[in-house]
Amino acid sequence: MAHNNQTNLSEQLQLLHELQYSDHEMPYQAAGKIYSNKQFRNLDTNRDVRLLDTIAVALTTGNPGDVFAASFDKRQQVQLVLSKNGPPTPEDVSAANELISLIGSPSVADAIDLFPFLIRRCGVNIDKRIHNLHTSIQDGELLNDFTLALQAYTPEANIQAEFPAAGADMFFEDYRNAVPAFATVWGDFVEMLTNETAQGLDAEDVASSVQKYAELFVLADALRRSPFLKTLTDDRNLSNKDRKERAEKMKRRLDKVCQYISGVSHLIQKAKRLFPIPHRWVTDTFTGTGEGVFDLCDSAYDAVANGLDQSSLSPETLDKLNRHFPSIIGNWEKNHTVHACIHAELRIILHFGPSSLHDTHVHPIGVSKRSCFCCVLWMESHNRIFRTQWMTSGSHGKPYANWALPGAACSYAIGADGRSSVDDAVLELVSTRLTDALDWLFPGQKRISDEHVSSGDDSSDDGEEPSVWQQRVVDLAINPLLTSVAYT
Ligand SMILES: [Zn+2]
Repeated sequence: MAHNNQTNLSEQLQLLHELQYSDHEMPYQAAGKIYSNKQFRNLDTNRDVRLLDTIAVALTTGNPGDVFAASFDKRQQVQLVLSKNGPPTPEDVSAANELISLIGSPSVADAIDLFPFLIRRCGVNIDKRIHNLHTSIQDGELLNDFTLALQAYTPEANIQAEFPAAGADMFFEDYRNAVPAFATVWGDFVEMLTNETAQGLDAEDVASSVQKYAELFVLADALRRSPFLKTLTDDRNLSNKDRKERAEKMKRRLDKVCQYISGVSHLIQKAKRLFPIPHRWVTDTFTGTGEGVFDLCDSAYDAVANGLDQSSLSPETLDKLNRHFPSIIGNWEKNHTVHACIHAELRIILHFGPSSLHDTHVHPIGVSKRSCFCCVLWMESHNRIFRTQWMTSGSHGKPYANWALPGAACSYAIGADGRSSVDDAVLELVSTRLTDALDWLFPGQKRISDEHVSSGDDSSDDGEEPSVWQQRVVDLAINPLLTSVAYT
């Protein structure tokens, strides 16, 4: 039974994935999106989730499929609980030991001191983030958005006020006393950032890499804090929604690049007061779950027919499907075999077990990437049924076929019929989403439901006052010689 549920669910998720479904993105989500649940959190929760996100990010290699999660166990003496979307390797375990001891070490004051570790452990992920920003900032549509929006934008008389980030003034030195119009300065910043992100870091040369990253950080920080970018990301005019989405995407990528400096420095500062605290890994063997390796049904057409509750597809449906999703058949074959696993954030909840039911506080989980569609549905269902308050900082709303049902591993959710109430809620919600998505694509063949829920994201680390570490990053960005002193 559990196995059939899992296969069926994975087929639905794979189909949603192929239909490019996201709980947050148009066209499927017409009711507006909530990327961030920041406004619902209190200060302590915000602080914790930000620290935990950064710990998870600092453990991430960037290798495909590697996702880490972290949470605090405050039941007795505070402990840090770490998990991965699979068993941790010996390298993971020693990286966590090293990271935690470095964070507590008196010789580590900020991200710059931690960089030799970060570039060794997270180099691939850092390069991925640099590369994603490069792609985003070169996007022709986004550049066109900038050009048009700049024509309608009234900047501050003092152009430097448009880049309210520590160190941004160094980029004005080239202009001497003749600062050009804001549109030109913006274009120059975009061009500098495009050049800075053209290549990744060199793990063999930490000193030059950290200097390069400091420069990249100052530029990215200047752009993500700019009031001009904010007018695009805060735009409530529905006719600008595509532009808004592109700007939000760039903002998220700027935040991600900055996280390895500002987020990590922030973590180190805050952790000095909390650390040393003991940590443990989730190594539980969960039984009765949907984890395992299995095959999906043979063809994407069968999955669509199942979703539409039809025995076979009409020629019109086939035609439309092939026109709109030309790679669906090929992709289905490629991803025919699924390796389902319980995602890292849910492992933490399962690890806490029934004892978490007495916890009436918000319980944040940090994750190295935003939570997926199903993790959010599962957490929301768990919270609703058991009145818990598990949360992560955000979601990208995308479905993954490899998402395994926790099943009997969440023992207290199993009812008299042997089924998990939380899993059942997720199965129901996924099936509704698929029905809605298919109905949107093939109108009239299915009834649409009107119910949508979502959780949101922001992976930002913004808003703090300039501090010692910031000054240090700026000094490094300005003066390459300083790095050779730090690492020789
Ligand atoms: Zn997930």
